Amino acid sequence: MNFNIDQLLRDNIRKLKPYSSARDEFSGNAEVFLDANENPYNSPWNRYPDPRQVKLKEIVEEIKNISSDNIFLGNGSDEPIDLLIRAFCEPGRDNIVAISPTYGMYKVAADVNDITVTEVPLTDDFELNSADLLKAVSGNSKLIFLCSPNNPSGNALDHDSIVQVVNNFNGIVVVDEAYIDFCPEKSFLPFLDRYPNLVILQTFSKAWGMAGLRLGMAFASPAIINVLSRIKYPYNLSVLTQQKAMELLPSDKKHEWVKIILEERLKLREELSQLPFVLKVYPSDSNFILVKMENVKDIYQHLVKENIIVRDRSSVFLCGGCIRVSVGSPEENNKLLKALKKFSNTK
Ligand SMILES: *Cc1c(COP(=O)(O)O)cnc(C)c1O
Repeated sequence: MNFNIDQLLRDNIRKLKPYSSARDEFSGNAEVFLDANENPYNSPWNRYPDPRQVKLKEIVEEIKNISSDNIFLGNGSDEPIDLLIRAFCEPGRDNIVAISPTYGMYKVAADVNDITVTEVPLTDDFELNSADLLKAVSGNSKLIFLCSPNNPSGNALDHDSIVQVVNNFNGIVVVDEAYIDFCPEKSFLPFLDRYPNLVILQTFSKAWGMAGLRLGMAFASPAIINVLSRIKYPYNLSVLTQQKAMELLPSDKKHEWVKIILEERLKLREELSQLPFVLKVYPSDSNFILVKMENVKDIYQHLVKENIIVRDRSSVFLCGGCIRVSVGSPEENNKLLKALKKFSNTK
């Protein structure tokens, strides 16, 4: 690997002089703040949030056991996906490489920025073939997106295959770990120091139950984190998001939730595989299950009539006949199973 971040950056980003906000120029303690054209009334909502999110990052530092120099916080992890493409890919010229099938936002963010996506098929079991992936890389490939555990297949990609990719690519490898709390032993975070070209994405939207707050994380070398911080909106995380996250994050509810969800996932897998129209229940390292079935459209419509919404993935590459089901609460899962059994009885 021959990784040089300055060479990889777009010229305009390398030369960029970032916006300097009032809160950047003075962030100490004072009594009277007349520097940001804020309204003196309506406290605390009248004040701009901390653009560097210092206090929130201290909490994330502790939870993730990693220095704040390695942490970027964004408006969901969708924000760093877009920022990485904008920082490193020249519109109309560069490309990103991604696995297929995978999370749809990489392609949307690439399309918005006029960046082409080279899609590399996973195997029929949704495994990564690192040699195929590396063959798809061209001189204009700046980023590789891997999603592990992958959405919509649910499985974590093989550790050594990811290492192969990271070690043999001169650009940046983004490993999206949105679902890693459901298989923490498979995270690359403990190895971040080894790989200067690795970016790990995680989120508070799934296991932490905070999708409504919009709070995502990117972990990388200080050099990469610095690039993201320079090009983000200065106040990308609102006062509400920062306050609420600081209030909720120290809680240990996440551990209880993950435990229940993993038990429920096992129950769902067992019960689903016994349904007569179910052809395959794919293994899952996440909080959802991909299920291949006969008559998938009829079953989807039947569930809608029963007021249950699942994700029809049957038109996605390698996912013919598949729905994706999130693992819900025990009551929700029982309702789903009951509705599916009702469908098999009417057949
Ligand atoms: C849900 C999900 C995310 C989360 O996005 P946020 O913007 O943090 O809510 C990221 N990546 C994948 C693969 C996902 O499925």
